[in-house]
Amino acid sequence: MIEVKNLVKKYGNHVAVNNLSFNIEKGKIYGFLGPNGAGKSTTMNIITGYLAATDGQVIINGHDIFEEPEEAKKCIGYLPEIPPLYLDMTPREYLEFAADLKKIPRSERPKMFEDVAKMTGIVDVYDRLIRNLSKGYKQRVGLAQAILGYPEIIILDEPTVGLDPKQIIEIRDVIKKLGQKHTVILSTHIMQEVSAVCDEVLIIAHGQLVAQDTTSNLGQHVTGSNNVDITVKAPDYRVKAILSKMNEVKKFEIHSSTEIECVDVTVSTDMSVDIRENLFYTFAASKCPIIKMADSNMSLEDVFIKVTEGRQTDKRQTDKKK
Ligand code: ADP
Ligand code: MG
Repeated sequence: MIEVKNLVKKYGNHVAVNNLSFNIEKGKIYGFLGPNGAGKSTTMNIITGYLAATDGQVIINGHDIFEEPEEAKKCIGYLPEIPPLYLDMTPREYLEFAADLKKIPRSERPKMFEDVAKMTGIVDVYDRLIRNLSKGYKQRVGLAQAILGYPEIIILDEPTVGLDPKQIIEIRDVIKKLGQKHTVILSTHIMQEVSAVCDEVLIIAHGQLVAQDTTSNLGQHVTGSNNVDITVKAPDYRVKAILSKMNEVKKFEIHSSTEIECVDVTVSTDMSVDIRENLFYTFAASKCPIIKMADSNMSLEDVFIKVTEGRQTDKRQTDKKK
């Protein structure tokens, strides 16, 4: 659906996007996560045809954004970081204006406007001046504009920034609904937003991709394995004997436990393996009860800090050399 290949954007000497490559598949919600200044907006502006790249390629549904911008742009609805709203228009007038730009046939407009206004919750403010709307409503009008024409791909740059918690939840619900029919890419620097809304995450730092995976797999990927913590009521030699015989166990580490007569163990398997039930039955059969079991993979927050921090350290080192 979207292929980004070796994308580079330089502002003067400053490299904002550094040889970035990734693919976006149809029908999922992608989170584009990264600290401020990571290059999220720059990348989105290039993908949507608002900004020229220094080097690299972007293919949207088979159309090169630089060579066939009209065709490529038709597939995309975009809500930029600062939505280009006309403050002296009402949402109704603004949607009319956006529909003209998108060349949406007049006959389709009434029904489409009604649907989009309902979906984004702007029906109540439809004939008020955009200037007088709250930030949350302005954002919704921007979102309505992006959805107009129902493009296959919807790209949203920090759609919830500056909104209050209730508005954030409402906008996230709209995005989730969009994800049922569209491919959505949203940028954010908020990890919880990704967990709440996205199927897949791309993490970028300093213009480079540092991780891409499903939201749930990301924690495993950094360690390269699926990890489970258990507390077993048994002496460590028995635990060792049992785990050594289990084929799926790639590695285990025994630690002392705060529980009396128990040991804590971190059990690692391949990423695709879920060993929890097998652990339960195997230890039960040996009359060594597991009294605690928990997922020991890193949270999305841990992953984010780990993958982006490494890069920052690298940068500091290169800065020092200068
Ligand atoms: P993000 O959206 O992830 O916060 P941006 O894409 O806005 O990041 O910015 C990436 C880097 O490029 C930052 O270091 C920023 O300062 C720089 N940058 C962005 N826009 C411009 C510009 N128009 N001129 C010069 N530098 C820019
Ligand atoms: Mg940005």
